[in-house]
Amino acid sequence: MSVGKVWLVGAGPGDPGLLTCRAREVLERAEVVIFDRLVGDGVLALMPRAARCIDVGKEGGRHPVPQREIEALIVREALDGRNVVRLKGGDPFLFGRGGEEVEALLAHGIPYEVVPGVTSAVAAPECAGIPVTHRGLANSLHIVTAHTKEGGIAAQDYDALARLNGTLVFLMGATAIAEICSQLMSRGFAADTPMAAVERGTTARQRALVGTLGDFERKASDFGLRPPAVILVGAVAALASQFAWRQTLPLRDKKVLVTRPANRQGRLSRMLRDLGAEVVEFPCIAAVPLETKLPPLDVHDWIGFTSATGVECFFARLTAEGRDVRELGSAKIAAVGPATAAALRERGLRPDLIPAVYDGVHLGAELAKRGGSVLLFRALDGSPELTETLRGRGVDFDEVPLYRTETLAAPFQPADVDAVLFTSASTVRGFKKACPGLEAPLACCIGVQTAREAERLGLKNIRVAARATLEDLVNILKEDGQP
Ligand code: SAH
Repeated sequence: MSVGKVWLVGAGPGDPGLLTCRAREVLERAEVVIFDRLVGDGVLALMPRAARCIDVGKEGGRHPVPQREIEALIVREALDGRNVVRLKGGDPFLFGRGGEEVEALLAHGIPYEVVPGVTSAVAAPECAGIPVTHRGLANSLHIVTAHTKEGGIAAQDYDALARLNGTLVFLMGATAIAEICSQLMSRGFAADTPMAAVERGTTARQRALVGTLGDFERKASDFGLRPPAVILVGAVAALASQFAWRQTLPLRDKKVLVTRPANRQGRLSRMLRDLGAEVVEFPCIAAVPLETKLPPLDVHDWIGFTSATGVECFFARLTAEGRDVRELGSAKIAAVGPATAAALRERGLRPDLIPAVYDGVHLGAELAKRGGSVLLFRALDGSPELTETLRGRGVDFDEVPLYRTETLAAPFQPADVDAVLFTSASTVRGFKKACPGLEAPLACCIGVQTAREAERLGLKNIRVAARATLEDLVNILKEDGQP
C-alpha cells in the first residue's frame, strides 16, 4: 500500500470566509480530517461528508489529546495510505505546534505540504478595527505567547519587549492579564498605554474590550474575558473606535446555518457574508437525480416546474435521452418562483406563468384558473400542496418525479448557532435528522409550507419570509432584534 500525504492546514481565525483557496481545495479532497478546538464550524462544514473527522481539541472539561498522540495519529493514518488534513486554528506555524508535526512526518518519510493560514494575531485585532501597525503609532509587531510549556513569560523577555516600542500581541493571554499589565508597567510602560482584547475574533461571538494598562485588569474582569482572545498592547489599540468597520455590518453577530443542498448554497451564503454573518454551510439534504424516462412533451397544455433542481434534472434527462427542447412545442411553461424561472431562462425558456405568491398552493390555483392539462416535473417526495390543489380543482394533470431528496448525516454538531435557514420542507426534515439535539434560536423559513413543517417537527421561534425569495429570507435576520 502506498503512503498517504499530509496537509498541515491553517484554518484561519474562525470565519470560513477567511479560509484560503488552497486550504479549501485540499480540505475538499481529504479522507481524514484531524482538527483542533479553534477551527470554526463553518470551516469544518467544508470537509467532504465521506471524510473521517477526528476532534483532538479540548472541549468543555474533556482533555485534549496530548501532542505526541496527535502526531502518532497523523503518522498512522498517512502510513495506512490516506490523505490526511491536519486542520489548525489560525496559521499552523504560529504557536500551532505545526513544526513538531512536521518533524514526526519527516521521521517517517511521509510526504507533506503546509498551507499557511490567516493568523488570529493579526485578524482578530483587525476585525475589532485595530491595525497592528500604523504610521506614526507603531512600526513593529511582536507576537508572543503568554503561556509557554514552562509557564509564563520570562522576566528578561519582558525587559526586551519593553524596549521594542512596537505593538505587542499576546496569544493565549486571556488568563494572564494581571501579569501582562503589572510586568509591563513595572518596566516603565505608562498606565495610560492603550490596550485591547479581542475574544473569538472574526466570528459572530466576537467581543472586543479597549482600555489601558492601568485599568485593564478590572475591565477584563467586569467584561468576563475568556479564551480564546488576542491581547494587544500599544498605541494602535486606541484606533479601535475610529476604525470600527465591523460594527456597520448588520449580521455581524449572527451565526447562521444554511441547510439547503450544497450546490444551491453559493448565492445565499454570499448574501449573508456580505452582511457580516458567520455562515456555516451545512447541507442537510441532497438531490439525487432519478433515471426517469421523460413522457412526450407536446401532449399537455402546461408544463410546470417547482424548483431549479427540477429544471436542471429535466434538461439532463432530455439530453441523456437524445431529445431536445423543441419537443415542448406550444406547451406553456409555469415556474413556482423566481429561482426556478431564472433556471428556465438560462436555458432559453421564458416562463408564461409565475404565481404572485411563490408556493405550490398558488401555482396550483393559477394553473387551475388558466385551464388545460398540466405536466409537472418535480421531486419524488415533493410537498403535496400543489397536487392537492390541482386535484381539488379538478385539473387534469400528470406528475413526473425527476429527483428524490436524500437526508445527509452530519459529520459534526455545530454549536452556538443563532439561526437556521430553511428553503423547503425537506430541508427542515433533513435538519431534524442531522442535528436532533440542536435548538435553533430562530428558524427562518422561505414560505408557509416550510414553516408548517418546522412547526410540525417542533422547531421554535419560526419566522416566514415576506415573499418566498432568498432576499426576504435574509431580511428576517436583518429585522431580528430590531424594534
Ligand atoms: N496558530 C494560531 C494560534 C494558536 S495559539 C493562530 O495563528 O491564530 C491559541 C491562541 O490563539 C488563543 O489562546 C488565542 O490567543 C488565539 N486565538 C485563536 N483564534 C482566535 C480568535 N478567533 N480570536 C481571538 N484569539 C484567537
